[in-house]
Amino acid sequence: MGSGILTASYIIAAIFFILSLSGLSHPETSRRGNFYGIIGMTVAIIATVASGEVTAYGLLIVVMLIGGGIGTFLARRVQMTEMPELVAILHSFVGLAAVFIGFASYLEGVDFTGVEKTIHDVEIYLGVLIGGVTFTGSVVAFGKLKGVIDGKPVLIPGRHWCNLVLGVLCVILGGYFIDATNVDNGTILLIVMTLIAFLFGVHMVMAIGGADMPVVVSMLNSYSGWAAAATGFMLSNDLLIVTGALVGSSGAILSYIMCKAMNRKFLAVIAGGFGTGSAGGAAIYEGEAIGQSATDTAESLKNADSVIIVPGYGMAVAQAQSVVNEITKRLRDSNKNVRFAIHPVAGRMPGHMNVLLAESRVPYDIVLEMDEINEDFSNTDVVLVIGANDIVNPSAQTEPDSPIAGMPVLEVWKATNVVVLKRSMASGYAGVDNPLFFKDNTRMLFGDAKESLGEVLRAL
Ligand code: NDP
Repeated sequence: MGSGILTASYIIAAIFFILSLSGLSHPETSRRGNFYGIIGMTVAIIATVASGEVTAYGLLIVVMLIGGGIGTFLARRVQMTEMPELVAILHSFVGLAAVFIGFASYLEGVDFTGVEKTIHDVEIYLGVLIGGVTFTGSVVAFGKLKGVIDGKPVLIPGRHWCNLVLGVLCVILGGYFIDATNVDNGTILLIVMTLIAFLFGVHMVMAIGGADMPVVVSMLNSYSGWAAAATGFMLSNDLLIVTGALVGSSGAILSYIMCKAMNRKFLAVIAGGFGTGSAGGAAIYEGEAIGQSATDTAESLKNADSVIIVPGYGMAVAQAQSVVNEITKRLRDSNKNVRFAIHPVAGRMPGHMNVLLAESRVPYDIVLEMDEINEDFSNTDVVLVIGANDIVNPSAQTEPDSPIAGMPVLEVWKATNVVVLKRSMASGYAGVDNPLFFKDNTRMLFGDAKESLGEVLRAL
C-alpha cells in the first residue's frame, strides 16, 4: 500500500473515531457511535496490516485470532455488573503493551543520532513510565472493583513524600537514561524505572478510598490513552498518536466531570487518602428502620401523583431494569408524573444507569441528571430508591467527618415518602452507614430488587 493511501486511511479512521466519541456522548446516538468506532478500527487494522511494514503475516494472524477469540469470549460472557472490572483490566493491557513496545524499541535500536536520538529516548522513557503506572494501577483498580482487594484506602505514613521521592528518582534516572552510551546500561536504567512506575501505580490506587474510585477509573482510562499515544510516537504511527490523544483527552475530561460530580479536587484524589474521613470515620446510626411490603409500596404509588425513581448499583445487580420500565409504563398510563434521577457516580461506571435504562427502553426525556432534578424532591409524593445507597446518603451533607463528606447527593429525603429497595441494612460501596433508612418518611422494601418490583408490578 502506498504511503498516500495509508495516510488517507488513517485520516478516515481518525474521523470515524471522532464521530464515535461524539455519538457515544448521548444515549440516543450511542449505538451509532459504537458502529463508527467499529468501522474506524477495522479501517485502521486493515491499513496497518497492508502498509508494507508488517512482514510476519503468519504470526500476526495467529496472535490476532488468539486475542480476538479471548476478547469475543469475554465480551459475550461478561455481566453488565462486571463491565467496570473488564474495562479496568483492558486498560492494564494497554499499559503493559506500552511497556513491552518501549523495551522492544529500545533494544531494537535505531540509527538516530543527536537530537533525534534524544527525542526517541524521551518517547521510550515516557511511554514505559506512563504504561507502567497504568498497568499496575489498573490491576489494583480491577481488584478493588471486583472486591478481591479491600476498597478501603491503604495509607502508608509519609505517603506524599514517598510519591515525591519516586517522582524525583524517575526524573534523575531519565537523565542518566538519555545520556547512557551503551544499550546495557540504558536497559538497566529502564528496568529500574519500570519497577518504580509499577510501585507508583500500586501505591496511587491503593491509597484511594471506595467513593473516589470513579475518578480513578476515568483517570486510568485517560492514562491508557496517553500510553497509547506515547507508543504511537515510538513506532512513528500517526493514527496511534491521534487515537491515544483522543482517549487520553476524553478520559481527562471525564475525570474532571467525575471530580466535579464528587466535589473533589483532581490533584487531591490523585494524591490519595480520600474516602477515609478525617477524624473518627463514619458515624454509626442507631434507630429502627421500618419495613413495608410490596403491596403497601404499590398502594403508595397508586396514591401518588408524582414519582421519582432513583436507580443505583443494586438495580444493575438485580437486573431489575425491565421491571422498572414496566412499572414506569403502568404509572404513566395512569397519568402520573414519573421521572428518573441519575447521580453521576451511580453504579460502577460512568453512564451505567443510563445504559441500563436505555436498554430496557425507558424514554430518554424522563431520565434526568442530578442537577436537573435535585430541587424537585420536595414536591414529590413518592421516591423509589432502587438498589442505591451512597448516592442518597444525607450524611454527605451533615457529617463533616464522613468519608463521603462534601459529595453531592440526591436529596430524596425531602420527598413525602421514600421507599428504599435493598436486601439488607448493608452499606454501599463507600462502606458508610446511611441515616436515610431511619428517617420517619422512609420505608424499607427488603429483598432482591427484581423480585420485589415484580411483586409491586403484580399488585399495581
Ligand atoms: P452503592 O454501592 O452505594 O449501593 C448499592 C446498594 O445496592 C447496596 O447497598 C446493596 O444493598 C444494594 N443491592 C445490591 N444488590 C441488590 C439486589 N440484588 N437487589 C436490591 N438491592 C441490591 O451504589 P450507588 O449506586 O448508590 O453508589 C455508587 C457507589 O459506587 C458510589 O460510592 C461510587 O463512588 C462508587 N463507584 C462508582 C463508579 C462509577 O463510575 N459510577 C465506579 C466505582 C465506584 P444490599 O446488599 O443490602 O442489598
